[in-house]
Amino acid sequence: MIRGGLLYPKTTGETWGVPMTDWKRKGEEFWREQLTPEQYAVCREKGTERPFTGKYNDEHRAGTYRCVACGAELFDSRTKYDSGSGWPSFYAPADEDNVDEHRDTSLGMIRTEVTCHQCGSHLGHVFEDGPAPTGLRYCINSVSLAFEPEEDGQ
Ligand SMILES: [Zn+2]
Repeated sequence: MIRGGLLYPKTTGETWGVPMTDWKRKGEEFWREQLTPEQYAVCREKGTERPFTGKYNDEHRAGTYRCVACGAELFDSRTKYDSGSGWPSFYAPADEDNVDEHRDTSLGMIRTEVTCHQCGSHLGHVFEDGPAPTGLRYCINSVSLAFEPEEDGQ
């Protein structure tokens, strides 16, 4: 079931007649139209939602977290844990091929930015203070994600 306001297609790649391989070629005008201002600020302008405000920080149901912009499967609830940071945190992506990591030196810090491999949307950052088995903490903005619970309507 797709809940209100989510943009991703049920059949990935078919939305708006745009083949999957063209996601990264879409211009900023496209994203400005398709995303809410809040989503645009995070996904395209690399903003960060305020901690403890995101709708998935306290989400504990089983399910899949997809990219809010393109629908790619990014994280699984089985790797989500309470980091106390105020943002949804995962110790691993659903599939390493579905996320890209980049060195980010903005704000005077050296961090590793995490983006969606399919569309390039900014998701958050990954830190090396996570739990076993990976020791990684994927600190992700709720705004960048679309949660799909395993049981509809729960
Ligand atoms: Zn995406």
